[in-house]
Amino acid sequence: MAEFTVLRGDITLSQVDAIVNAANTTLLGGGGVDGAIHRAAGPELFEACVPFNGCPTGEARITPGFKLPAKWVIHTPGPVWHGGQEHEAEMLANCYRNSLKVAMDHDCRTVDFPSISTGVYGYPLDEAAAVATQTIATVLGHTTTLERVRLVAFDDATATAYRTAWANLVD
Ligand code: ADP
Repeated sequence: MAEFTVLRGDITLSQVDAIVNAANTTLLGGGGVDGAIHRAAGPELFEACVPFNGCPTGEARITPGFKLPAKWVIHTPGPVWHGGQEHEAEMLANCYRNSLKVAMDHDCRTVDFPSISTGVYGYPLDEAAAVATQTIATVLGHTTTLERVRLVAFDDATATAYRTAWANLVD
């Protein structure tokens, strides 16, 4: 069974097969983790994203990692939180599910996620963590190729939320 872990860190430093980018629907870069990934990967990442012509919320697109230690970057636009009645949970689950599908299609064994949508997009942290861990657990229960998925939390509150959500899930 593939493992899931939570760590505190900077995802641009992750030495894994793929990191996931909490992108926006233009795929042309933004603030937060998206900006950090584009800065660390270099301008080739932007050039590689242009031909996609954007990406709908919840879907995922893959590019090389260029100057990043990660081999691939999987770009997925998370939902903007509008109060919870506008399919936000479904779209957030799609982000995790579709990103892992693209990762498996590219023979990735190790994948690191940031906390999608809980920054500027305003998704409540505990609710996002519940959706993310549930979705990841379901995929890990079926995969024969993934070995390890990690949630890379940029701060302590985020790390705690995902550890708690995972613990509540397996109990
Ligand atoms: P969104 O627009 O999807 O909400 P943000 O980038 O605003 O995306 O925030 C998502 C999460 O990524 C937040 O928890 C933020 O603190 C975190 N984050 C920002 N920079 C990094 C980084 N270098 N590595 C990992 N997480 C990061």
